[in-house]
Amino acid sequence: MYDITIVGSGFSGIFLAYTLLQSESKLKILIIEKGKKFIDRICPIETGMSEKCVHCTICNKAQGFGGMGRSEGKFNYTNDFGGKLGEKIGNENVIDIMEEIDKILCLFGGDKVKLYSTSNEELNRRAKESNCSILSTKVRHLGTTLSYEIISKMYLYLKSKINIQFDADIISINKNNCVFNLNSKEKVFYSKVVVLATGISGGDKFLDYCKYFNIEPCRRRIDLGVRVEMNEYELETILKKSFETKISWKDNEIEATTYCMNPKGKVIKKYQEGLVMADGQNCLETDNPSCNFNFSILIPKYFYNCNQAKEYATSIIKSINKGKGRIIIQRFEDLIKNRVTTKEQLIKNSIHPTLESEGGNLYNEIPRIYINGALKIIETIEKLTDKKICKDTLLYGIDAKFYEPEITTNEHFETKEEGLYVLGDCSGTTYSLAQAAASGVYLGRYFLKK
Ligand SMILES: Cc1cc2nc3c(=O)[nH]c(=O)nc-3n(C[C@H](O)[C@H](O)[C@H](O)COP(=O)(O)OP(=O)(O)OC[C@H]3O[C@@H](n4cnc5c(N)ncnc54)[C@H](O)[C@@H]3O)c2cc1C
Repeated sequence: MYDITIVGSGFSGIFLAYTLLQSESKLKILIIEKGKKFIDRICPIETGMSEKCVHCTICNKAQGFGGMGRSEGKFNYTNDFGGKLGEKIGNENVIDIMEEIDKILCLFGGDKVKLYSTSNEELNRRAKESNCSILSTKVRHLGTTLSYEIISKMYLYLKSKINIQFDADIISINKNNCVFNLNSKEKVFYSKVVVLATGISGGDKFLDYCKYFNIEPCRRRIDLGVRVEMNEYELETILKKSFETKISWKDNEIEATTYCMNPKGKVIKKYQEGLVMADGQNCLETDNPSCNFNFSILIPKYFYNCNQAKEYATSIIKSINKGKGRIIIQRFEDLIKNRVTTKEQLIKNSIHPTLESEGGNLYNEIPRIYINGALKIIETIEKLTDKKICKDTLLYGIDAKFYEPEITTNEHFETKEEGLYVLGDCSGTTYSLAQAAASGVYLGRYFLKK
């Protein structure tokens, strides 16, 4: 029997386990992960074995040791975005814990890249005049290679001290005589305390666990929007001091925010939940950077029924994909004139698309709100730079960000079922590496105090 079992080895689970190990306590800890060890996480697309997603039963890109943290590892140390952990445990507390996380990352080699800040006073002042806001953060951007190195070292550290069970998908959880039984196909694990840290890949099983313990999921968020590809030099005036920025525009109808800016990056396909979306690749991740700049403009929508949320996003994306991974692309001028961008226009366009996509008209493909949001952000960029953006700017449809439903817990992430905790992205409270990791450190400290 274990004292604490952590289901999921993403950054929330990893940092919880790491924190628990920093004491003399003799707690018996288990991590259960449905995916594989870090070195065994091989995605057929990444190795060039397949051009398309082959829908593996366990997605090695998203699941396995490191979870979704097997990305380019951009740690944003902020309360401005990336989750609502500050609302739960206090903004100052979050920032203190994030400093600790950065120290831990550096212990494992994170100090090979510099910490930088995106804060820009002049831009903040101008943003206020344009009725928008600039969200700022300190950033430790590891990049894929360093991120992989750190996750591998953390794995070696944890595995030398605690039990980690891979390839174990927890199908159901029940409780007998104050002991949780975690049932996988092959085995039952027994534990006094269970921490669910299943990220956004827990899916229906996560909802089933909640149902069993009568835990009602609250609202669920889905972000959709377009990815923009433009000339990098057009943003020089607003980016020269901060490398990147996050612009947010809000009125009674729309809340639009820029995500994931990639100077000299490329637009790439993102495969998730059987859907294909337009994502961005940072220039650090490619041998031949582009001359373009890409980012997404996303708009959140909230649903009180989990299935409705999924159906809404899936129906929009599937109708674009048309079963063949289709992504739509449109020139900015054509969007304004509500006309189709043709193949011929794309060939002679001054901004060359870095992702081969089908020319079309976004008005025929995505709900109007996502176009209006994109236009508001573009208008804001024009105000901030004092220049019109190039008519050859490209807009790709569609990018999406999925969230788990918000789960009601106390301030220590404990659900109404005593001893059952939800942590990181599956709590619906965090949506980023730094906040997921911070939730893990926070809960670890609480357990040790308890
Ligand atoms: C493409 C992409 C890129 C991103 N890039 C960044 C970035 O650069 N910076 C940033 O701040 N955020 C980024 N994010 C968000 C960030 O990755 C997540 O917020 C963070 O990883 C969440 O951590 P987590 O521990 O809560 O969950 P995850 O990292 O999702 O880990 C959950 C783990 O639980 C396991 N699991 C699920 N169900 C079960 C089960 N039933 N039994 C056993 N194990 C189970 C999964 O296999 C997985 O390994 C990105 C997200 C995506 C989709």
